[in-house]
Amino acid sequence: MSACTICRHATDGPHLCPRHAADVRDWLAELPAQTRLLEQFLRPAAAPAQSRIGGTGRAHSPAPVDLRVLALLGPGHVDARSEDDDGLIPILPWLDGWAGYIAYTYPSASRDPYGTAHVQPCEAAHPASTGPDGRRRGPTVTGWCVWLTRYLPYAMAHPWAGDLYRQLSALIDRLRDLTHSVPHRHLQGAPCPRCEAFALVAVDGRWGITCEACGHRMEPDVYDQYAAEFHHAHQATANPADNAAA
Ligand SMILES: [Zn+2]
Ligand SMILES: [Zn+2]
Repeated sequence: MSACTICRHATDGPHLCPRHAADVRDWLAELPAQTRLLEQFLRPAAAPAQSRIGGTGRAHSPAPVDLRVLALLGPGHVDARSEDDDGLIPILPWLDGWAGYIAYTYPSASRDPYGTAHVQPCEAAHPASTGPDGRRRGPTVTGWCVWLTRYLPYAMAHPWAGDLYRQLSALIDRLRDLTHSVPHRHLQGAPCPRCEAFALVAVDGRWGITCEACGHRMEPDVYDQYAAEFHHAHQATANPADNAAA
């Protein structure tokens, strides 16, 4: 019997329950946009028009950049699963570290020229890194987030998926705190078809409807049809007279 490392809910194998796996997927989808917002802090605001008269005026000194922003957007090397002391682990190296860690645990099968099969760890992870022009580029936050989302079902089979969850959760909290951007939630009117909680939520910029109680996901058109049926049945029980008359 296995359990979710976050909420201890029993699962049939994975170390994250559907609800907490949905969190990781949502955060990986949010991370690129949060990073772009953070990068705007580094662009100097429109420089104030300088007086051409006199010519002795110095350019205004730029507004001080928040050192936390510099640290988060900085280069570096991060070992996955290492303890985060100050919460300022740079984003791209953090993603890179996790992808490398996951790749290293992922068995790669190959055959040598003599036909002998070898199973060994993958040497490296390669993120989706093709630009709009079709040419390959270096790793990007978006590329790594796509990569990690693809390998999430594999990662969930390991107890360290909990470390990934906790670190990503702390990173997203910190970014939201700095950018003041929290995706808008819209609570839906019909209860979750799986757990019956009134916890189905649509979030701006994300595809689909997710139950915040159990992690159940629905496509928007599936939800629309389900909600129409739910409200229809609900009205029928609320007004039995209407039914009798029909
Ligand atoms: Zn859980
Ligand atoms: Zn539910």
